[in-house]
Amino acid sequence: MTTDPQTDVVRTDVLVVGAGPGGSSAAIHLARLGRDVLLVDGAEFPRDKACGDGLTPRAVAELQTLKLDHILEGGPVNKGLRGHGFGRSLMLPWNGPHLPKHGSAIARTVLDNALRDAALDAGATGLDGHKAVDVELTGGRLTTVLLRGRDGTVRVEAEHVIVADGGKSHLGRLLGRAWHKETVFGVASRAYATSPMADDPWITSHLELRDESGRMMGGYGWVFPLGNGLVNVGAGTLATSKRPANINLRKLTEEYARQRRDEWQLGELTGYGSAPLPMGGAVSNVAGRNWMLIGDAAACINPLNGEGIDYALETGRLAAEHIVESGARPDFTASWPAELYAEYGEAFSIARRLGILITHERLLAMSGPIGMRIPAIMAVAFRVMGNLVTPEDSDVVARAWRTAGRASLRLDRRRPFH
Ligand SMILES: Cc1cc2nc3c(=O)[nH]c(=O)nc-3n(C[C@H](O)[C@H](O)[C@H](O)COP(=O)(O)OP(=O)(O)OC[C@H]3O[C@@H](n4cnc5c(N)ncnc54)[C@H](O)[C@@H]3O)c2cc1C
Repeated sequence: MTTDPQTDVVRTDVLVVGAGPGGSSAAIHLARLGRDVLLVDGAEFPRDKACGDGLTPRAVAELQTLKLDHILEGGPVNKGLRGHGFGRSLMLPWNGPHLPKHGSAIARTVLDNALRDAALDAGATGLDGHKAVDVELTGGRLTTVLLRGRDGTVRVEAEHVIVADGGKSHLGRLLGRAWHKETVFGVASRAYATSPMADDPWITSHLELRDESGRMMGGYGWVFPLGNGLVNVGAGTLATSKRPANINLRKLTEEYARQRRDEWQLGELTGYGSAPLPMGGAVSNVAGRNWMLIGDAAACINPLNGEGIDYALETGRLAAEHIVESGARPDFTASWPAELYAEYGEAFSIARRLGILITHERLLAMSGPIGMRIPAIMAVAFRVMGNLVTPEDSDVVARAWRTAGRASLRLDRRRPFH
Protein backbone atom coordinates (compact mmCIF):
# COMPACT_ATOMS: atom_id res chain seq x y z
CA MET A 1 0.00 0.00 0.00
CA THR A 2 1.32 3.45 -0.84
CA THR A 3 0.03 6.93 -0.14
CA ASP A 4 0.63 9.66 -2.72
CA PRO A 5 1.99 12.61 -0.68
CA GLN A 6 0.58 15.15 -3.21
CA THR A 7 -3.00 13.90 -3.33
CA ASP A 8 -3.23 11.70 -0.22
CA VAL A 9 -4.64 8.96 -2.47
CA VAL A 10 -4.00 5.47 -1.06
CA ARG A 11 -3.04 2.83 -3.66
CA THR A 12 -3.22 -0.91 -3.11
CA ASP A 13 -3.36 -4.11 -5.15
CA VAL A 14 -6.43 -5.56 -3.36
CA LEU A 15 -8.90 -3.56 -1.31
CA VAL A 16 -11.11 -5.73 0.91
CA VAL A 17 -14.15 -3.91 2.31
CA GLY A 18 -15.49 -5.59 5.44
CA ALA A 19 -13.42 -7.50 8.00
CA GLY A 20 -15.96 -10.16 8.97
CA PRO A 21 -15.06 -13.82 8.36
CA GLY A 22 -15.40 -13.36 4.58
CA GLY A 23 -13.18 -10.31 4.20
CA SER A 24 -10.58 -11.51 6.68
CA SER A 25 -10.41 -14.94 5.04
CA ALA A 26 -9.78 -13.33 1.63
CA ALA A 27 -7.20 -10.97 3.15
CA ILE A 28 -5.37 -13.81 4.92
CA HIS A 29 -5.12 -15.94 1.77
CA LEU A 30 -3.98 -13.05 -0.41
CA ALA A 31 -1.52 -11.60 2.10
CA ARG A 32 0.01 -15.04 2.64
CA LEU A 33 0.59 -15.17 -1.12
CA GLY A 34 2.48 -11.90 -0.83
CA ARG A 35 -0.23 -9.67 -2.30
CA ASP A 36 -0.61 -6.09 -1.15
CA VAL A 37 -3.94 -6.00 0.75
CA LEU A 38 -5.82 -3.20 2.50
CA LEU A 39 -8.53 -4.59 4.82
CA VAL A 40 -11.05 -1.89 5.71
CA ASP A 41 -14.00 -1.96 8.10
CA GLY A 42 -16.51 0.69 9.11
CA ALA A 43 -16.50 -0.54 12.71
CA GLU A 44 -13.70 -0.36 15.23
CA PHE A 45 -12.36 -3.75 16.31
CA PRO A 46 -13.05 -5.77 18.33
CA ARG A 47 -16.66 -5.39 17.22
CA ASP A 48 -19.76 -7.49 17.82
CA LYS A 49 -21.97 -8.95 15.11
CA ALA A 50 -25.49 -10.30 15.68
CA CYS A 51 -25.01 -14.04 15.22
CA GLY A 52 -25.77 -17.42 16.78
CA ASP A 53 -21.99 -17.88 17.06
CA GLY A 54 -22.34 -21.52 15.95
CA LEU A 55 -19.65 -23.14 13.82
CA THR A 56 -20.62 -26.21 11.82
CA PRO A 57 -17.98 -28.86 11.03
CA ARG A 58 -17.66 -27.19 7.64
CA ALA A 59 -16.63 -23.90 9.29
CA VAL A 60 -14.23 -25.81 11.55
CA ALA A 61 -12.74 -27.45 8.43
CA GLU A 62 -12.24 -24.07 6.79
CA LEU A 63 -10.47 -22.75 9.89
CA GLN A 64 -8.24 -25.84 9.69
CA THR A 65 -7.50 -25.01 6.04
CA LEU A 66 -6.52 -21.52 7.19
CA LYS A 67 -4.36 -23.14 9.91
CA LEU A 68 -6.28 -21.05 12.42
CA ASP A 69 -8.27 -23.72 14.26
CA HIS A 70 -6.21 -22.87 17.36
CA ILE A 71 -8.64 -19.93 17.71
CA LEU A 72 -11.17 -22.51 18.93
CA GLU A 73 -8.87 -24.10 21.53
CA GLY A 74 -10.37 -23.99 25.00
CA GLY A 75 -13.80 -23.30 23.49
CA PRO A 76 -16.74 -25.66 23.34
CA VAL A 77 -16.70 -28.78 21.19
CA ASN A 78 -20.13 -29.91 20.13
CA LYS A 79 -21.01 -33.38 18.84
CA GLY A 80 -24.15 -32.48 16.93
CA LEU A 81 -27.71 -31.34 17.34
CA ARG A 82 -30.27 -32.12 19.98
CA GLY A 83 -33.39 -31.43 17.96
CA HIS A 84 -36.79 -30.94 19.57
CA GLY A 85 -40.24 -30.58 18.13
CA PHE A 86 -43.71 -32.03 17.81
CA GLY A 87 -43.41 -33.80 21.16
CA ARG A 88 -40.13 -35.55 20.39
CA SER A 89 -36.39 -35.08 20.88
CA LEU A 90 -33.59 -36.54 18.78
CA MET A 91 -29.81 -36.60 19.15
CA LEU A 92 -28.28 -36.12 15.72
CA PRO A 93 -24.45 -36.38 15.60
CA TRP A 94 -22.62 -34.36 12.91
CA ASN A 95 -22.49 -36.80 10.02
CA GLY A 96 -20.55 -35.47 7.03
CA PRO A 97 -18.20 -38.30 5.94
CA HIS A 98 -15.42 -35.93 4.82
CA LEU A 99 -15.77 -33.29 7.53
CA PRO A 100 -14.72 -33.06 11.19
CA LYS A 101 -17.10 -34.83 13.56
CA HIS A 102 -17.43 -31.78 15.76
CA GLY A 103 -18.58 -28.18 15.60
CA SER A 104 -17.99 -25.28 17.97
CA ALA A 105 -19.36 -21.91 19.05
CA ILE A 106 -17.45 -18.73 19.68
CA ALA A 107 -18.55 -15.14 20.28
CA ARG A 108 -18.06 -13.07 17.14
CA THR A 109 -16.22 -10.38 19.10
CA VAL A 110 -13.53 -13.04 19.61
CA LEU A 111 -13.65 -14.93 16.28
CA ASP A 112 -13.73 -11.91 13.98
CA ASN A 113 -11.02 -10.10 15.91
CA ALA A 114 -8.78 -13.17 15.76
CA LEU A 115 -9.35 -13.57 12.01
CA ARG A 116 -8.63 -9.90 11.38
CA ASP A 117 -5.46 -10.14 13.49
CA ALA A 118 -4.40 -13.16 11.43
CA ALA A 119 -4.82 -11.09 8.26
CA LEU A 120 -2.68 -8.30 9.70
CA ASP A 121 -0.08 -10.86 10.90
CA ALA A 122 0.03 -12.21 7.34
CA GLY A 123 0.92 -8.73 6.07
CA ALA A 124 -2.40 -7.06 5.23
CA THR A 125 -2.81 -3.44 6.28
CA GLY A 126 -5.84 -2.86 8.49
CA LEU A 127 -7.94 0.29 8.54
CA ASP A 128 -10.91 0.08 10.86
CA GLY A 129 -13.37 2.86 11.71
CA HIS A 130 -13.58 3.66 7.98
CA LYS A 131 -16.77 3.08 6.04
CA ALA A 132 -16.94 2.73 2.26
CA VAL A 133 -19.43 5.41 1.22
CA ASP A 134 -18.97 6.00 -2.49
CA VAL A 135 -17.35 4.64 -5.62
CA GLU A 136 -15.95 5.88 -8.93
CA LEU A 137 -16.06 3.67 -12.00
CA THR A 138 -14.17 4.22 -15.23
CA GLY A 139 -14.98 2.11 -18.29
CA GLY A 140 -16.68 -0.47 -16.06
CA ARG A 141 -13.66 -0.72 -13.74
CA LEU A 142 -14.04 0.24 -10.11
CA THR A 143 -11.16 2.67 -9.83
CA THR A 144 -11.78 4.45 -6.53
CA VAL A 145 -13.54 3.69 -3.27
CA LEU A 146 -14.18 6.58 -0.92
CA LEU A 147 -13.90 5.80 2.78
CA ARG A 148 -15.28 7.98 5.52
CA GLY A 149 -13.56 7.93 8.90
CA ARG A 150 -13.64 10.08 12.00
CA ASP A 151 -10.93 12.36 10.59
CA GLY A 152 -12.31 12.76 7.10
CA THR A 153 -12.40 11.02 3.75
CA VAL A 154 -9.79 8.66 2.32
CA ARG A 155 -9.61 7.90 -1.43
CA VAL A 156 -8.45 4.38 -2.21
CA GLU A 157 -7.42 3.26 -5.70
CA ALA A 158 -7.17 -0.50 -6.07
CA GLU A 159 -6.53 -3.01 -8.84
CA HIS A 160 -9.06 -5.42 -7.32
CA VAL A 161 -11.87 -4.89 -4.82
CA ILE A 162 -13.47 -7.59 -2.70
CA VAL A 163 -16.81 -6.52 -1.27
CA ALA A 164 -17.40 -8.35 2.03
CA ASP A 165 -19.60 -5.81 3.77
CA GLY A 166 -22.32 -8.19 4.98
CA GLY A 167 -26.00 -8.77 4.31
CA LYS A 168 -27.08 -5.20 3.68
CA SER A 169 -24.00 -4.57 1.51
CA HIS A 170 -24.08 -0.81 1.06
CA LEU A 171 -21.07 -0.98 -1.26
CA GLY A 172 -22.63 -3.84 -3.22
CA ARG A 173 -25.76 -1.75 -3.74
CA LEU A 174 -23.69 1.16 -5.02
CA LEU A 175 -22.25 -1.29 -7.55
CA GLY A 176 -25.67 -2.58 -8.65
CA ARG A 177 -26.22 -5.61 -6.40
CA ALA A 178 -29.92 -6.54 -6.39
CA TRP A 179 -31.43 -8.76 -3.67
CA HIS A 180 -34.37 -10.89 -4.91
CA LYS A 181 -36.73 -11.28 -2.03
CA GLU A 182 -39.25 -13.39 -3.91
CA THR A 183 -36.73 -16.09 -3.01
CA VAL A 184 -36.67 -17.14 0.61
CA PHE A 185 -34.65 -15.04 3.07
CA GLY A 186 -34.19 -15.09 6.82
CA VAL A 187 -34.63 -12.75 9.74
CA ALA A 188 -33.05 -13.76 13.01
CA SER A 189 -32.13 -12.42 16.40
CA ARG A 190 -30.00 -13.54 19.29
CA ALA A 191 -29.21 -12.71 22.89
CA TYR A 192 -26.84 -14.02 25.55
CA ALA A 193 -27.74 -15.50 28.94
CA THR A 194 -25.84 -17.18 31.72
CA SER A 195 -26.52 -20.89 32.17
CA PRO A 196 -24.99 -23.63 34.30
CA MET A 197 -25.32 -25.81 31.17
CA ALA A 198 -23.00 -23.66 29.06
CA ASP A 199 -20.66 -26.68 28.66
CA ASP A 200 -23.34 -28.91 27.17
CA PRO A 201 -21.65 -30.79 24.26
CA TRP A 202 -24.72 -30.55 21.97
CA ILE A 203 -26.24 -27.57 20.24
CA THR A 204 -29.96 -27.42 20.79
CA SER A 205 -32.59 -26.41 18.30
CA HIS A 206 -36.36 -26.34 18.37
CA LEU A 207 -37.87 -26.98 14.99
CA GLU A 208 -41.36 -26.24 16.26
CA LEU A 209 -41.20 -22.54 17.01
CA ARG A 210 -44.22 -20.86 18.56
CA ASP A 211 -44.78 -17.20 19.33
CA GLU A 212 -46.34 -15.94 22.57
CA SER A 213 -49.86 -16.62 21.28
CA GLY A 214 -48.95 -20.24 20.51
CA ARG A 215 -48.99 -19.59 16.75
CA MET A 216 -46.55 -21.84 14.90
CA MET A 217 -43.79 -19.95 13.06
CA GLY A 218 -41.85 -21.37 10.10
CA GLY A 219 -38.39 -21.19 11.64
CA TYR A 220 -36.25 -22.42 14.47
CA GLY A 221 -35.04 -21.46 17.91
CA TRP A 222 -31.60 -22.33 19.23
CA VAL A 223 -29.50 -22.50 22.35
CA PHE A 224 -25.79 -22.71 21.55
CA PRO A 225 -23.52 -23.28 24.58
CA LEU A 226 -20.42 -21.08 24.45
CA GLY A 227 -18.48 -22.94 27.15
CA ASN A 228 -17.75 -19.75 29.08
CA GLY A 229 -20.77 -19.68 31.37
CA LEU A 230 -22.93 -18.18 28.61
CA VAL A 231 -25.27 -19.55 26.00
CA ASN A 232 -26.34 -17.86 22.78
CA VAL A 233 -30.12 -18.06 22.56
CA GLY A 234 -32.01 -16.94 19.50
CA ALA A 235 -34.69 -17.49 16.93
CA GLY A 236 -34.94 -17.14 13.20
CA THR A 237 -37.68 -17.39 10.68
CA LEU A 238 -37.97 -17.47 6.92
CA ALA A 239 -39.94 -15.18 4.68
CA THR A 240 -40.45 -14.11 1.09
CA SER A 241 -41.79 -10.87 -0.34
CA LYS A 242 -45.13 -12.71 -0.83
CA ARG A 243 -45.07 -14.22 2.67
CA PRO A 244 -43.44 -11.60 4.92
CA ALA A 245 -42.54 -12.69 8.45
CA ASN A 246 -44.53 -9.91 10.19
CA ILE A 247 -43.06 -10.68 13.58
CA ASN A 248 -41.36 -8.79 16.35
CA LEU A 249 -38.03 -10.60 16.44
CA ARG A 250 -37.07 -9.37 19.87
CA LYS A 251 -40.35 -10.59 21.33
CA LEU A 252 -39.92 -13.93 19.58
CA THR A 253 -36.45 -14.37 21.06
CA GLU A 254 -37.67 -13.35 24.50
CA GLU A 255 -40.56 -15.78 24.21
CA TYR A 256 -38.30 -18.61 23.05
CA ALA A 257 -35.90 -17.88 25.95
CA ARG A 258 -38.85 -17.82 28.36
CA GLN A 259 -39.86 -21.29 27.13
CA ARG A 260 -36.28 -22.55 27.71
CA ARG A 261 -35.63 -20.67 30.97
CA ASP A 262 -36.28 -23.48 33.49
CA GLU A 263 -34.58 -26.23 31.53
CA TRP A 264 -31.41 -24.15 30.95
CA GLN A 265 -31.69 -22.05 34.13
CA LEU A 266 -31.16 -19.00 31.98
CA GLY A 267 -30.16 -15.67 33.51
CA GLU A 268 -31.28 -12.29 32.16
CA LEU A 269 -30.99 -11.75 28.43
CA THR A 270 -28.22 -9.39 27.34
CA GLY A 271 -26.57 -8.39 24.05
CA TYR A 272 -29.71 -8.50 21.96
CA GLY A 273 -29.08 -8.14 18.23
CA SER A 274 -30.80 -8.98 14.96
CA ALA A 275 -30.18 -8.79 11.23
CA PRO A 276 -31.70 -9.85 7.91
CA LEU A 277 -30.10 -12.85 6.20
CA PRO A 278 -29.86 -12.88 2.40
CA MET A 279 -29.80 -16.56 1.47
CA GLY A 280 -29.27 -19.10 -1.26
CA GLY A 281 -27.44 -16.81 -3.69
CA ALA A 282 -30.58 -14.70 -4.18
CA VAL A 283 -28.66 -11.68 -5.48
CA SER A 284 -27.56 -10.59 -8.92
CA ASN A 285 -24.71 -8.33 -10.09
CA VAL A 286 -22.26 -10.04 -7.77
CA ALA A 287 -19.23 -8.96 -9.80
CA GLY A 288 -17.87 -6.42 -12.25
CA ARG A 289 -14.62 -6.11 -14.12
CA ASN A 290 -12.35 -5.88 -11.11
CA TRP A 291 -14.69 -6.38 -8.14
CA MET A 292 -16.59 -9.23 -6.59
CA LEU A 293 -19.04 -9.82 -3.73
CA ILE A 294 -18.45 -12.56 -1.15
CA GLY A 295 -20.09 -13.94 2.01
CA ASP A 296 -23.41 -12.42 3.07
CA ALA A 297 -23.00 -9.65 0.47
CA ALA A 298 -23.34 -12.44 -2.12
CA ALA A 299 -26.26 -14.02 -0.19
CA CYS A 300 -24.15 -17.02 0.78
CA ILE A 301 -26.24 -18.21 3.71
CA ASN A 302 -27.78 -21.66 3.98
CA PRO A 303 -31.58 -21.25 3.66
CA LEU A 304 -32.17 -24.35 5.78
CA ASN A 305 -30.27 -23.36 8.91
CA GLY A 306 -29.19 -19.71 8.63
CA GLU A 307 -25.46 -20.38 8.89
CA GLY A 308 -23.14 -18.26 6.84
CA ILE A 309 -19.75 -18.24 8.58
CA ASP A 310 -18.50 -21.26 6.66
CA TYR A 311 -19.60 -19.79 3.32
CA ALA A 312 -18.00 -16.46 4.21
CA LEU A 313 -14.70 -18.20 4.98
CA GLU A 314 -14.96 -20.34 1.86
CA THR A 315 -15.91 -17.54 -0.53
CA GLY A 316 -13.02 -15.48 0.89
CA ARG A 317 -10.68 -18.31 -0.12
CA LEU A 318 -12.34 -18.75 -3.52
CA ALA A 319 -12.16 -15.01 -4.24
CA ALA A 320 -8.46 -14.94 -3.36
CA GLU A 321 -7.80 -17.89 -5.71
CA HIS A 322 -9.93 -16.25 -8.41
CA ILE A 323 -7.88 -13.06 -8.27
CA VAL A 324 -4.59 -14.93 -8.31
CA GLU A 325 -5.66 -17.08 -11.27
CA SER A 326 -7.12 -14.17 -13.25
CA GLY A 327 -3.72 -12.64 -14.03
CA ALA A 328 -3.03 -9.00 -14.84
CA ARG A 329 -6.21 -8.12 -16.76
CA PRO A 330 -9.10 -9.55 -14.82
CA ASP A 331 -12.74 -9.48 -15.77
CA PHE A 332 -14.85 -11.05 -13.04
CA THR A 333 -18.23 -9.96 -14.47
CA ALA A 334 -19.17 -13.43 -15.70
CA SER A 335 -16.48 -15.61 -14.17
CA TRP A 336 -17.25 -14.89 -10.49
CA PRO A 337 -21.04 -15.58 -10.59
CA ALA A 338 -20.19 -18.68 -12.64
CA GLU A 339 -17.77 -19.88 -9.97
CA LEU A 340 -20.26 -19.26 -7.14
CA TYR A 341 -22.95 -21.02 -9.18
CA ALA A 342 -20.73 -24.03 -9.83
CA GLU A 343 -19.79 -24.22 -6.15
CA TYR A 344 -23.17 -23.62 -4.48
CA GLY A 345 -25.86 -23.49 -7.21
CA GLU A 346 -27.30 -26.99 -6.79
CA ALA A 347 -27.38 -26.96 -2.99
CA PHE A 348 -28.75 -23.41 -2.77
CA SER A 349 -31.42 -24.01 -5.38
CA ILE A 350 -32.92 -27.05 -3.66
CA ALA A 351 -32.40 -25.59 -0.16
CA ARG A 352 -34.24 -22.37 -0.95
CA ARG A 353 -37.06 -24.33 -2.59
CA LEU A 354 -37.42 -26.39 0.61
CA GLY A 355 -37.06 -23.17 2.63
CA ILE A 356 -40.15 -21.74 0.92
CA LEU A 357 -42.08 -24.81 2.11
CA ILE A 358 -41.05 -23.97 5.69
CA THR A 359 -42.82 -20.61 5.36
CA HIS A 360 -46.10 -22.55 5.01
CA GLU A 361 -46.95 -23.29 8.64
CA ARG A 362 -49.67 -25.80 7.77
CA LEU A 363 -47.29 -27.90 5.70
CA LEU A 364 -44.74 -27.78 8.49
CA ALA A 365 -47.36 -28.79 11.05
CA MET A 366 -48.21 -31.82 8.89
CA SER A 367 -44.71 -32.94 7.91
CA GLY A 368 -42.84 -32.08 11.15
CA PRO A 369 -44.39 -34.80 13.33
CA ILE A 370 -43.80 -37.44 10.61
CA GLY A 371 -40.12 -36.50 10.24
CA MET A 372 -39.49 -36.39 13.98
CA ARG A 373 -40.95 -39.89 14.33
CA ILE A 374 -38.33 -41.35 11.95
CA PRO A 375 -34.75 -40.72 13.19
CA ALA A 376 -33.21 -41.92 9.90
CA ILE A 377 -35.11 -39.20 8.00
CA MET A 378 -34.01 -36.58 10.51
CA ALA A 379 -30.37 -37.71 10.27
CA VAL A 380 -30.52 -37.19 6.50
CA ALA A 381 -32.31 -33.85 6.96
CA PHE A 382 -29.68 -32.76 9.49
CA ARG A 383 -26.88 -33.63 7.08
CA VAL A 384 -28.30 -31.64 4.18
CA MET A 385 -29.54 -28.82 6.41
CA GLY A 386 -26.11 -28.59 8.04
CA ASN A 387 -24.32 -28.27 4.71
CA LEU A 388 -22.46 -31.50 5.41
CA VAL A 389 -22.48 -32.86 1.85
CA THR A 390 -19.12 -32.23 0.19
CA PRO A 391 -18.04 -32.81 -3.43
CA GLU A 392 -15.98 -35.82 -2.25
CA ASP A 393 -19.09 -37.61 -0.92
CA SER A 394 -20.40 -40.35 -3.22
CA ASP A 395 -22.92 -42.07 -0.93
CA VAL A 396 -26.63 -42.35 -1.70
CA VAL A 397 -27.66 -39.28 0.29
CA ALA A 398 -25.03 -37.08 -1.37
CA ARG A 399 -25.95 -38.34 -4.85
CA ALA A 400 -29.68 -37.88 -4.19
CA TRP A 401 -29.09 -34.34 -2.84
CA ARG A 402 -27.08 -33.39 -5.92
CA THR A 403 -29.69 -34.91 -8.25
CA ALA A 404 -32.42 -32.96 -6.45
CA GLY A 405 -30.27 -29.84 -6.76
CA ARG A 406 -29.86 -30.29 -10.51
CA ALA A 407 -33.60 -30.89 -10.94
CA SER A 408 -34.36 -27.82 -8.86
CA LEU A 409 -32.02 -25.67 -10.97
CA ARG A 410 -33.95 -26.67 -14.09
CA LEU A 411 -37.13 -25.33 -12.45
CA ASP A 412 -35.56 -22.07 -11.25
CA ARG A 413 -36.92 -18.91 -12.85
CA ARG A 414 -33.86 -17.10 -11.57
CA ARG A 415 -30.65 -19.04 -11.02
CA PRO A 416 -28.61 -18.44 -7.86
CA PHE A 417 -26.22 -15.48 -8.31
CA HIS A 418 -27.93 -14.37 -11.55
C1 LIG B 1 -29.17 -13.59 14.48
C2 LIG B 1 -28.21 -14.29 13.54
C3 LIG B 1 -27.73 -15.53 13.89
C4 LIG B 1 -26.79 -16.18 13.05
N1 LIG B 1 -26.26 -17.36 13.48
C5 LIG B 1 -25.30 -17.96 12.76
C6 LIG B 1 -24.64 -19.11 13.25
O1 LIG B 1 -24.88 -19.58 14.37
N2 LIG B 1 -23.69 -19.68 12.47
C7 LIG B 1 -23.36 -19.18 11.25
O2 LIG B 1 -22.50 -19.76 10.57
N3 LIG B 1 -23.96 -18.06 10.78
C8 LIG B 1 -24.89 -17.42 11.50
N4 LIG B 1 -25.46 -16.26 11.04
C9 LIG B 1 -24.99 -15.69 9.76
C10 LIG B 1 -23.60 -15.07 9.95
O3 LIG B 1 -23.65 -14.11 10.97
C11 LIG B 1 -23.14 -14.41 8.64
O4 LIG B 1 -23.36 -15.31 7.59
C12 LIG B 1 -21.66 -14.03 8.66
O5 LIG B 1 -21.40 -13.04 9.61
C13 LIG B 1 -21.21 -13.54 7.27
O6 LIG B 1 -19.90 -13.04 7.31
P1 LIG B 1 -19.46 -11.86 6.32
O7 LIG B 1 -17.99 -11.71 6.51
O8 LIG B 1 -19.99 -12.07 4.95
O9 LIG B 1 -20.22 -10.55 6.83
P2 LIG B 1 -20.22 -9.87 8.27
O10 LIG B 1 -19.81 -10.80 9.33
O11 LIG B 1 -21.54 -9.19 8.38
O12 LIG B 1 -19.07 -8.75 8.16
C14 LIG B 1 -19.27 -7.60 7.37
C15 LIG B 1 -18.33 -6.52 7.87
O13 LIG B 1 -18.42 -5.40 6.98
C16 LIG B 1 -18.41 -4.20 7.72
N5 LIG B 1 -19.06 -3.19 6.90
C17 LIG B 1 -20.37 -3.10 6.57
N6 LIG B 1 -20.58 -2.06 5.74
C18 LIG B 1 -19.37 -1.48 5.53
C19 LIG B 1 -18.94 -0.38 4.76
N7 LIG B 1 -19.79 0.34 4.00
N8 LIG B 1 -17.63 -0.06 4.79
C20 LIG B 1 -16.74 -0.77 5.53
N9 LIG B 1 -17.11 -1.85 6.28
C21 LIG B 1 -18.40 -2.19 6.27
C22 LIG B 1 -19.14 -4.53 9.01
O14 LIG B 1 -18.76 -3.66 10.06
C23 LIG B 1 -18.69 -5.97 9.25
O15 LIG B 1 -17.56 -6.03 10.09
C24 LIG B 1 -26.40 -15.58 11.83
C25 LIG B 1 -26.92 -14.34 11.47
C26 LIG B 1 -27.81 -13.69 12.32
C27 LIG B 1 -28.34 -12.33 11.94
